[in-house]
Amino acid sequence: MKIGVLALQGAVAEHIRLINKAGGEGVIVKKTEQLDEVDGIIIPGGESTTIGKLMRTFNFITGLQSFSQQGKPVFGTCAGLIVIAKHIEGQPEAHLQLMDIKVTRNAFGRQRESFETDLAIKGIADDVRAVFIRAPLIEEVGEGVEVLATYRDQIVAARQGHLLAASFHPELTDDERMHAYFLNMVREAK
Ligand code: GLN
Repeated sequence: MKIGVLALQGAVAEHIRLINKAGGEGVIVKKTEQLDEVDGIIIPGGESTTIGKLMRTFNFITGLQSFSQQGKPVFGTCAGLIVIAKHIEGQPEAHLQLMDIKVTRNAFGRQRESFETDLAIKGIADDVRAVFIRAPLIEEVGEGVEVLATYRDQIVAARQGHLLAASFHPELTDDERMHAYFLNMVREAK
């Protein structure tokens, strides 16, 4: 199974490493044509405004929207979660508008700009290592969205059918279990 990682900006190599560790084949995606060669895609962390601008410049908005419409799985981590959300708090326009969630950027405040913790993630395990860096939160979820994890009563991971989102960086650890979960979603979709 080929899993693309959108390589416009952000933590790309780390995702490729864990996709491969989980038994998939990670592919660096820089052009929209490459979307035809992959079975699922990860939109990494970084800076969502920058990723959004580059997606517009390189035609990835319509490219990824039709990728998702074909039922192919999309996984957004941190800034990637912001990029796939339908609504972003305080911003009139969202980016890909795929997942029925409302997100708040930089939701943990200055004191807790970055931290690590073990999370219980539904369908995966009770002790998944998670790294949060200026992380967003999921404020609201629509009807078809399943909450997979919370941190101090706030939603930090969710799934809507073929769409998966995490506030944190699962790729900055050696724990490949969230990538393995996404690989399973891709297997089911095929
Ligand atoms: N704060 C960033 C944003 O709003 C996301 C941070 C990250 O991806 N680590 O885009």
